[in-house]
Amino acid sequence: MRAVTFQGPRSVEVLGRAEPELQCHDDALIRVVASGICGSDLHIYHGRVPTARGFTLGHEYVGEVLAVGDAVRSVSVGERVLGTFATACGTCAGCRLGLYHHCHEARVFGLGPSGGSLPGTQAELALVPHADLTLRRAPDGLPDELALLAGDAMGTGYHAIAAAGIEPGETCAVVGLGPVGLCAATAAKAAGTAAVMAIDMVESRLEVARALGADVIHAGEEDALARVMDLTHGRGAHVTVEAVGSAGALETACRITRRGGTVSLVGVHVAPCRVDTGLIFRKGLRIVSGLANVVAHLDRVLAMMTAGVLDPGPIVTHELALADAPDAYEAFDRRETLKILLRP
Ligand SMILES: [Zn+2]
Ligand SMILES: [Zn+2]
Repeated sequence: MRAVTFQGPRSVEVLGRAEPELQCHDDALIRVVASGICGSDLHIYHGRVPTARGFTLGHEYVGEVLAVGDAVRSVSVGERVLGTFATACGTCAGCRLGLYHHCHEARVFGLGPSGGSLPGTQAELALVPHADLTLRRAPDGLPDELALLAGDAMGTGYHAIAAAGIEPGETCAVVGLGPVGLCAATAAKAAGTAAVMAIDMVESRLEVARALGADVIHAGEEDALARVMDLTHGRGAHVTVEAVGSAGALETACRITRRGGTVSLVGVHVAPCRVDTGLIFRKGLRIVSGLANVVAHLDRVLAMMTAGVLDPGPIVTHELALADAPDAYEAFDRRETLKILLRP
């Protein structure tokens, strides 16, 4: 089968790989119908996960079930399914608390040895462990390009808002309008917020945020702090989602959040960064952070997407063939696209 493989910094190649086979009783084998390119794939693409060299990338996917182990109950051969970017065992101490994102045996698709050596889904076929927890049948009427967002970008955007405990009538700012930031903006809208303020420097991304109903702030052309204060009667946002994973974005998030407010940190921080802890202390900010519990959120997120309450549709901007993966990664890296779908 063909698969998108990481070859070194800024280099991916579509190569032949052995077809996966069922290994455990609770595995499923799927034919991938579509797989997305995620911002976290860019961390690998930029060379920050050197151990992933040679590995098949990808962790956002929709597929058709080709085979299941004899312990799988919730999906059947022939069904269209979607899944989460990481797997959970369902039986460890973390899973028993429902903290599937802290599963002691968690594996991440397409991350290489540091993610449990689980080959990615930017391929013609994929092996899915613990299928009853990892997969869901794709709701009829939910198109592939939306279904594959549920187990990663939309699940993470939802988590950013849910973990912050935002209340109806409160205000939310989002720093960084990649797919996860935009998903957080739509989740904030769905939570009944009085205002969602979306901050970025890329005009096309601000355009999508506007389409999702946010007040947009171009950080390169205007003073983000001043605009947020203007829009919140001088107080700052109740909740700010930091969806970049950089020192600058975290600093901005802390500055634009009101006293006693919450910074929800879902941007992937791969390197240590310096923050003004005095500012956090003086304002009494609450910081929530970490990977999203996408397994636990998946049914709720799918229900909200099917009902149209969460609408990440405008985030999917490109659809390409799997063979075009090298061009797709380049374009995404240049921020010329938002979510790109690859179809094998
Ligand atoms: Zn991802
Ligand atoms: Zn577990």
